[in-house]
Amino acid sequence: MTNMSNKFEADTGKILDIVINSLYSEREIFLRELVSNASDALDKRKYLGLTDKKINNSSDVSEIKIEVNNKEKILTISDNGIGMNEEDLKSSLGTIARSGTKAFLEQVASNSKDKKSDMSMIGQFGVGFYASFMVADSVEVVSKKAGEEQAWKWSSDGKTGFDLVKTDKEIAGTSITLKLKKDAKEFLEETRLQFVVRKYSDHISYPVKLLEIDKKDAKEKTLNEASALWTRPSKDITEEQYQEFFSHIGAGFGKPLLTMHNNTEGTISYTNLICIPSTRPFDLFNPDRKSSLKLYINRVFITDKCDALVPSYLRFIKGLVDTQDIDLNVSREMLQNNPAVSKISKSLVGKILRELKKVSEKNVDGYKSFWKEYGAVLKEGLYEDAERKETLLDLCRFSTNENDEIMSLSSYLEKMPENQKDIYYISAETRSQALASPHLEGFKSKNIPVLIMTDAIDQFWLPMIGTFKDKKFTSITQGQINLDDLDEKNKDKKSENKDQKEKQAKEFVDLIAQMKVVLGEQVKDIRLSSNLTDSPVCLVADDGDMDIAMEQLMAQRDANYKGAPRILEINGDHTLIKNMKSLLSKKENNDLVSDAGTLLFEQARLLEGKMPADPAQFSKIMNQFLLKAIPTQ
Ligand code: ADP
Ligand code: MG
Repeated sequence: MTNMSNKFEADTGKILDIVINSLYSEREIFLRELVSNASDALDKRKYLGLTDKKINNSSDVSEIKIEVNNKEKILTISDNGIGMNEEDLKSSLGTIARSGTKAFLEQVASNSKDKKSDMSMIGQFGVGFYASFMVADSVEVVSKKAGEEQAWKWSSDGKTGFDLVKTDKEIAGTSITLKLKKDAKEFLEETRLQFVVRKYSDHISYPVKLLEIDKKDAKEKTLNEASALWTRPSKDITEEQYQEFFSHIGAGFGKPLLTMHNNTEGTISYTNLICIPSTRPFDLFNPDRKSSLKLYINRVFITDKCDALVPSYLRFIKGLVDTQDIDLNVSREMLQNNPAVSKISKSLVGKILRELKKVSEKNVDGYKSFWKEYGAVLKEGLYEDAERKETLLDLCRFSTNENDEIMSLSSYLEKMPENQKDIYYISAETRSQALASPHLEGFKSKNIPVLIMTDAIDQFWLPMIGTFKDKKFTSITQGQINLDDLDEKNKDKKSENKDQKEKQAKEFVDLIAQMKVVLGEQVKDIRLSSNLTDSPVCLVADDGDMDIAMEQLMAQRDANYKGAPRILEINGDHTLIKNMKSLLSKKENNDLVSDAGTLLFEQARLLEGKMPADPAQFSKIMNQFLLKAIPTQ
């Protein structure tokens, strides 16, 4: 098989390479992946049989067969499921469906040099079939799609490409033949196969049968329990069985953050077996990523593309819902608007959010991990689900500038000084960028915690939600915030402060006027700041204008986007500003003051992560200043 007629796509070859070469331990998972594919194929054919009269389901039993040929060292896994035609074989077994898979796998492979088992989550990435090349020198797939006449044979050595030809072989469904590698003969042994099937595939709804075809009097033996896991009472199910089930449906490995297996009876009856995986899937933020809850009607798999089952802000939930209250003959398209589906959804979402609330109260560390993985997704609900706004706000957590522990909004309110009317926040791309902002200075000096918002979605829900328990969300980079008002204890000081401010404002009239001339339309206004303590200047968005972080978001989407000019606030207590004022009053070196003004403005832009408005001018002035600081020796 050196001259394959079809070459693998570059990405496929690369992924095969990663899979084959970085997996030494846990090779047994190839069987889990093949059995899982067979079970999916049986699910699909069952469903098709409901809607397409040509596909006759009733006569044969759905089953998965493992045949062992000891002499030839061949293992065959077959199913009488949906099957594949030429096109399916080409696209399913020759390409990588999900974008980002390769990059992600590469990263996993490079991180897991010593921890090879990390790759055991391969099934998550839609490349489980390739795991067969871990144990086989060559793989042959013979398949006939349900309802079609022609069978096809796909074969490959897993290196360069594959052959795909017509075949006359008698087949219903798919049969996968592995020519085992020399060091993989353990997978011919009955006990080994039984162990692996029990370990990974016990919960599969179809029987997995073993037959040693070259043994005399060999009997077929069923290796697994073959009853759908979710139909068993939860007290009879072990934690390992739940875990295996979830990894079978691609929810990753290990203990989920939360498992929910419930039976609901009432106006609508359904069973749910769902989990929140311990780590988020790599494509959680792909724009086209949707929920993938599986919907079963009376144990028949219907679809995993029923968006109406849970809203997209819960798209990290994995698992299934099984109900008898939907007509089996309903078409997949009609499910979106099916009243029973929306009843289930309403009940299920309520259940999930209540459970999360419980976790947040009883298992603070667990909730922390949850929030780290999925907080940014859950917050999308604040924007999308007005009905559950209160519940969701209650579940949200934020860190403040004071430390990176997360807190609820209620705890923030509890910590607020009596006179603080608003909930203060600062938005930035990263926490460290936020912490570097001069806007925080006044809040720090008065010990007022400021929430840090670093998720893109924050820019959308914040303006929409507006308040929490009547307290307004207020961006500290926008508008004029007078922190002195919070010093209720010290009323005298407050009025004193006010007088002082007015006096100061008068003193700086000339400097502000001069800087306005220099900066022109680059700034909307220039005014004295009441909140800066260490920095000489900062930029603020005017009340009605877009907040700085929102503007950055717009700029990322549209390179030509130019936001509204900002207000430049200057710190009248800063030595530099004071010196500029004095220098200006002497009227001897106005140019120097102007240039300093330009530098300060550009510096404020830099702190916001922006380029100088005029880089050439900026460098020129900067060099003049440097020359003064480092004169000729
Ligand atoms: P995934 O199962 O995550 O999609 P796999 O690499 O395991 O990724 O399989 C790729 C695709 O090949 C499947 O989605 C399915 O369309 C097809 N396939 C694999 N095995 C079978 C089978 N036994 N019967 C029918 N189709 C199959
Ligand atoms: Mg698979």
